[in-house]
This record gives sequence, structure tokens and C-alpha cells, in this order.
Amino acid sequence: MNNKTLVVLSGGQDSTTCLFWAIDKFGKENVSAIGFDYGQRHKLELECASEICKNAGVEYTVINTPIINELSANALTRSDIEVDTEKPEDTPPNTLVEGRNMLFLTYAGIYAKTHGIKNLVTGVCETDFSGYPDCRDIFIKSLNVTMNLAMDYNFCIYTPLMWLTKAETWELADKLGVLDTVYNKTLTCYNGIIGEGCGNCPACKLRSRGYREYKLMNNE
Ligand code: ZN
Repeated sequence: MNNKTLVVLSGGQDSTTCLFWAIDKFGKENVSAIGFDYGQRHKLELECASEICKNAGVEYTVINTPIINELSANALTRSDIEVDTEKPEDTPPNTLVEGRNMLFLTYAGIYAKTHGIKNLVTGVCETDFSGYPDCRDIFIKSLNVTMNLAMDYNFCIYTPLMWLTKAETWELADKLGVLDTVYNKTLTCYNGIIGEGCGNCPACKLRSRGYREYKLMNNE
């Protein structure tokens, strides 16, 4: 069996948990990670990802994809757009970069095939209602088929967090023995603060609510 695995790693809570999930499932020697520099406001997340990989003994490659920033104006890439503090009711948040996960997975697939890797791992999640259509399960399954056809290759895209709540994602990190690493070394905050974050942006609220729920599940 070909266990070679590529994790799409942004340096946030979800993708970092996926990295350790992949190491646990496929073995460290089979795992590498890839990240994308698309002109995001917080380059720090790539530094977080790089540091996490270094400590885990996993190779990390960063691909430059500035074109995403040229195509799309949004609060994650443009410093002149304020991040919404609450998620809007009917529309996706203004941190949405249309099609970003589709592009990232496609780029990751091209890189993976070049390196003889068949397994791709991404931290997308349908349960947290972020409203990103290219994070949904149906889309990932569709893209998997499309990529296999496009590159005549048998990719297998894993989404270990797809049906987990944020509390369950913390639980998974804990089971994998990396709760402290995920809590302290990742960058999820839209305002660029590592670990606990600003506490005010939608990503921080989601993250800390999940953490509290997980602690309650454990009666802590
Ligand atoms: Zn924040």
C-alpha cells in the first residue's frame, strides 16, 4: 500500500490537527505538508506551520499563489477591509476567498502526483457552518473524482474533520497527544494573534467556544 500522504497545512487549529492525524494514521516517514502563500494578511500562519512541521519532523513546502489575491478582494488578504466580528446571517463571511480550497487542493494534487503521493488530507469541515461551499463533503467528493480524471491518477482525499464539531476537533487533538501544541502553536485568529487569539473575531469565537465545550465534556 502506498501510504505517502500530503497534508494541506495552513498553520491553523484544523489543519494542524489533521497533520497529526495523518502522522498517526500513515506514519511520520510517509507524511509531508504543503502551504500556500497567497498574500494573506497574516504571513505568520505560514511561520506557525513551518515551526510545527519542524518540531514534528515533517517536510513543509510553501507554494506561492499570489494570483488568488489578484482575483479576489476580501478581508483575509486586504488590509483595507475590516474582518466582520460576527458572521453575517445570509451571506458567507467577508473572509471568504471564493474557490480557495478548490485551488489549494488542485495545486496540492499536482504537487502530490509529481512526488508519487496519493493521499491528500485537508482540514475542511461542514459542521462549523462557516458557509464556504468548497468545504462541503459533496464538493470534496466531486473534486476527488475530477482530479482523478484530470490527472489520470488515484488520489484519495481525506477529510478527518468533516463531521466533527469544534469541540470534537479539540478532542481529537487531545487523543493524538497534541492538545498543547494545537492550543499554543497554531494561528486561527483573523487578527493574527497566535494561540488564544484576539477573542473577538469569528474564528476566535468559534475556536474558544469549541474549547470550552470540550472542557465541559470532560467536566473540567
Ligand atoms: Zn481573533
